[in-house]
Amino acid sequence: MAETGAELEGTVPLVRLDRFRNAVFAIPEGGDCLVRLEFSADSQRRRIVRGELETDVELECQRCMSGMTAHVSSAFELGLVTSDDKARQLPSELEPFVVEGEALDLWTMVEDELLLALPAYPLHEREDCPATADLEALEADPAASPEPDPEDKRENPFKVLEGLKKTRH
Ligand SMILES: [Zn+2]
Repeated sequence: MAETGAELEGTVPLVRLDRFRNAVFAIPEGGDCLVRLEFSADSQRRRIVRGELETDVELECQRCMSGMTAHVSSAFELGLVTSDDKARQLPSELEPFVVEGEALDLWTMVEDELLLALPAYPLHEREDCPATADLEALEADPAASPEPDPEDKRENPFKVLEGLKKTRH
């Protein structure tokens, strides 16, 4: 456990953060997360961790479903607690982080915060998105629909069968 008053600055290789790696489209080759942590205690002798994280990852654009580079950053202030009860006693500006005894799993902390920092609905900038042309075509013609009429779709196989019957007789 880092001492109160300690500061820690370093990089964490993204490839070692399995949960994070699985949550994103791709991680850049050799990608690192820049981590800055500061450990302190408040007047109630609660252990506090202030941190900043920064990294670049590939996320899946929710418009075109292809990869896009995104800068992910997070600044947080955690109160280290040993139980849910203690977590409820924390002042509201502190986010609880539950630790078992003295041990603080910095990797898990960094990974949790990175996951929280991911945008829920990543999108390319409009001008960078390969789907923009389609989108603009749709917007220009409000009658156009990207979904074929489901009624038409259901009829198709029968039409094909009818066609086959006719050619066989
Ligand atoms: Zn896109």
